[in-house]
Amino acid sequence: MNNEIYLDHNATAPVREAVADAMMAALRQTGNASSVHRFGRRQRQLVETARAEVAALLGAPPQNVVFTGGGTEANNLALRGAGRKRIIVSAIEHLSVLQAADGAEIAPVTAAGIVDIDRLAGMMAADGEPALVSVMLANNETGAVQPLDDIAGIVEQAGGILHSDMVQAAGRLPLDRYPMAMATVSAHKIGGPQGIGALVLGRDVPLSPVIRGGGQERGRRAGTENMAGIVGFGVAARLAREQADGNAAMAKMRDRMEARLLRAFPDAVVFGAGAPRLDNTSCVAIPGMRAETQIMALDLAGIAVSAGSACSSGKVTTSHVLQAMGVAADMAQCAIRISFGPGNSDADSDRLIDILRSLRGRTARQDPEAA
Ligand code: PLP
Repeated sequence: MNNEIYLDHNATAPVREAVADAMMAALRQTGNASSVHRFGRRQRQLVETARAEVAALLGAPPQNVVFTGGGTEANNLALRGAGRKRIIVSAIEHLSVLQAADGAEIAPVTAAGIVDIDRLAGMMAADGEPALVSVMLANNETGAVQPLDDIAGIVEQAGGILHSDMVQAAGRLPLDRYPMAMATVSAHKIGGPQGIGALVLGRDVPLSPVIRGGGQERGRRAGTENMAGIVGFGVAARLAREQADGNAAMAKMRDRMEARLLRAFPDAVVFGAGAPRLDNTSCVAIPGMRAETQIMALDLAGIAVSAGSACSSGKVTTSHVLQAMGVAADMAQCAIRISFGPGNSDADSDRLIDILRSLRGRTARQDPEAA
């Protein structure tokens, strides 16, 4: 349907044509990459080509890329496989970090959604063994970009190791300039397929596998390789690296949308507006208009956005990210996330604002108190 508008690229991005083509070709090729015969060797070649592309995205040596079944698994591998007893994670991490690091100490964030560096430094300086610290490069809900260089310095000085979830930053920010020990990336946020990701090691971190079995991925992640997924990921990583400069237009589109939205709804709030943010992401609340209501009205008009984190899809719960930023619960319940991609235009956000305007008009007529 050509009147559908997709504004939920942080949930998943459309698969690129070149990715789909490469995956179809890979599906048509037989062989197990662990086999020594020519069929196996051909598959191995495909895996290693893709590994080199993912490595290049992060500026890491190819042998440091561990393919996993997505970002969630890579985060689990980092936090559970590194064997550190003391773990510190930021309060705004994705649930796959927060849940994998059960019992971790939580580093707070500022009202703009940026990790509080001084508090983190204080935690690192406190007595205790050197910690594994996990801080994402960009937040999936607000887009807030974290000061990873400063954080890396603090962690290094305290003798800890740093993991960064770079799932949302991939394809939107350069990833190859950060000195972290481990980084997580996921194919489906950069135009690759779902169900494939990687943990990329910045240096030689000893890792014990979470998924055990055969010796694939140098003993760090067992299981026959997801060939089509890996091939698609490789192509998506190459395209993300080659096309990482298309973001200025996206920032212009996002800023224009926010300006118009604030003109239409002067009481609306843009979360993290004062922080460095991903160019494509906007998290906004219009007081009195619950997120579910907005999402349903927009969906009826063919427009896709999400409420907070879409990873717990179908269920709208108050965002732990907004909560950590000190946003009041009634405001957080009205927050929607609009995330642009290369296929969007100003007309898309104009249509979104039109729908929200008429929704508020209807709400006001039904319940003058709520408007
Ligand atoms: N980390 C972040 C910041 C995410 O936004 C997501 C997915 O939304 C994940 C991790 C999980 O990645 P995957 O969907 O590949 O398991």
